[in-house]
Amino acid sequence: MNYDSLNCEFLQVLPFLPYAENALEPVISAKTISFHYGKHHKGYVDTLKKLVAGTRFEDMPLEKIMSETDGKSDSTAIFNNAAQAWNHTFYWQSLRPKGGSEPTDVLQKKIEVSFGSLDACKKELATAAMAQFGSGWVWLVLDSDMLKVVKTANAGVPMTMSMKPLLTIDVWEHAYYLDYQNLRADYVKAVLDTLINWEFVAENLGC
Ligand code: MN
Repeated sequence: MNYDSLNCEFLQVLPFLPYAENALEPVISAKTISFHYGKHHKGYVDTLKKLVAGTRFEDMPLEKIMSETDGKSDSTAIFNNAAQAWNHTFYWQSLRPKGGSEPTDVLQKKIEVSFGSLDACKKELATAAMAQFGSGWVWLVLDSDMLKVVKTANAGVPMTMSMKPLLTIDVWEHAYYLDYQNLRADYVKAVLDTLINWEFVAENLGC
């Protein structure tokens, strides 16, 4: 399991949103963010804290909990809630208001080596988002030396496959249903076109 390569440490708290709840409008409404952050994300954090109270996992960073419970059938609920708390924190940082940002030169080159072009990379992310049956996440990851697109179901994380996450898009229905109803493709396209925080991707890559 490749949890040690992450250059972040997320604690068992609901982190502050890196922007106002209405900052991602019109792509994602304040109402969606209010429920998604204030109910869903908070719910995972609260449930995790209840599950780990009085255990050795109490006060452990999320990455360490995930690493120690990953694949263990007696700790599924702890893993799922820790992973969902981690995934949402990572998702908020993957997005950026006001049109997102452009990839740095180094990142742009890396994207071109791996996918041919930024458009091809976005297309692969969009295709994976549609191919994910039911709830889950779409990821841009570093796998050995190459960038790749992968998807995970439910609370799944790329670290389980020894890949380093660089960017994620939440494709659970709660992420888009109030704004787009059943039109997941429209939500994903709008996010990819106008909200991606490529600086965050570059930071995660260390370039
Ligand atoms: Mn979500």
